[in-house]
Parts: sequence; structure tokens; C-alpha cells
Amino acid sequence: KKPVIAIDGYSSTGKSSISKEIARRLGLVHIDTGALYRGITLFALRCALDQSGKIDCSMLEKHLPELELKFHLEHGELVLYLAKENITEPIRSQQVSENVSFIAKQSFVRDYLLEYQREMAKKGGVIMDGRDIGTTVLPEADYKFFLSASVQERSRRRHLELQSMGIDLPLEEVERNLTSRDAIDSSREASPLRQAPDAVLIDNTKLTKEETIEKILSFIS
Ligand code: C5P
Repeated sequence: KKPVIAIDGYSSTGKSSISKEIARRLGLVHIDTGALYRGITLFALRCALDQSGKIDCSMLEKHLPELELKFHLEHGELVLYLAKENITEPIRSQQVSENVSFIAKQSFVRDYLLEYQREMAKKGGVIMDGRDIGTTVLPEADYKFFLSASVQERSRRRHLELQSMGIDLPLEEVERNLTSRDAIDSSREASPLRQAPDAVLIDNTKLTKEETIEKILSFIS
């Protein structure tokens, strides 16, 4: 049976791109759970804003039954859809990044996504990345890793990544978003960002992407 691998960690530690590459090498499906929280945030920004333009959580909760958020397997990779719309790009916007941790700390949002995430991992053969995969979503995962790196290094990487997407934000702005998300994610009551006690901690401040991948693979038999 193919393994279930959980990868958690702070923002911009490379979780998603590393998980995607490991999935390719081991023939697993990569599930980016951050995309699901971003998808709900995009939905909220479209249908649950109050008079002042802020997200109204009770309005979001009321509209949740209409939410059609789903991954579709396309060419071996999962692509996220909101109804019939491919939302791969819109969920990376700055507006979504600024609001996602506020949405992700709502218990009704986490409850809503929990079963969906577990269902996807049920048959095995997945590598799932997020913030609470090893602790809450898949506590029985075969392998668990927790990625960390210095704030400076993570800001630098995120800044470069945004630039490659044509988004040019000041480095301080990028760092502010990272640290604020990490703070909200770590301090929330519902399933906070935590290293599972049985997860392998990897600080990749001084490691390349390839070195991080090799380190992870060295634990997987
Ligand atoms: O992984 P990514 O940075 O795209 O995740 C966006 C946000 O989604 C995180 O900052 C966090 O607030 C939330 N998230 C979460 N639990 C997960 C995955 C993501 O709360 N398992």
C-alpha cells in the first residue's frame, strides 16, 4: 500500500513545491490544503462582504451550503475549482493572502474542510501539506514532517516567488504578511499550527529545495 505523508510548517518554507516534487518521484497525489482555505477566502470575498467591505463570517456561514469547492485530477495533478472556475491563480492574490488566516481560524470553516481532507487521503498514496495535517487531519499518517526556516529566508523566497508571478511587493510587506499569518495560525484555538510530537523537524534555512527533498526521502522506506 502506498504511504500517507503529512507535511506541515510555517508559511513559505517550501511545503507545497517540495511536496509536489516528492509526489512526482514517488507516484503519489499531492494535496495542498492551504489552497482549500484560500478557495473559501476567495468565495467569502465574493459573496460575504459587509457594508464596509470586510468579510462577514455569519454571512459566509449562511452561504457555505452553496460553496462548490473541489479538486479535479488533471494530468496527474490536482487543480482547484470553485464551481466551474479554475481558481489556481485568483487564490494567490494579495487580497486572499491578507484574509486567509482570519478565515482559517473560524471553527465552522475548519469543521467544513476536515472530512473532505480525510476522505481524500482514505485510500493512501497521498502527500498532504498544511498546518495541522500531522496533528489533526491525519494523525495516523505513515510519515510526518515539520518544515521551518528563518523569517528572513522565508521572506526572501516568497518575495522572489511573487516577482516571478509578476507581483512586485516591498520585502517588508512580504515579511509582514508571513509573520502575521504565522502568528494567527499558531495562536488560534481551532487546530493551531503545531509540530506533531512524532513529526521530523527540518529547518531548511540553509538547505536548497533539492537538499530538503533528499532529507525527507531519506526517512521514507
Ligand atoms: O499553505 P498556504 O500558505 O497557502 O496556506 C494559506 C493559509 O491557510 C495559512 O496561512 C493558514 O491560515 C491556512 N491553513 C490552515 N490549515 C492548513 C493549511 C492552511 O489553517 N492545513
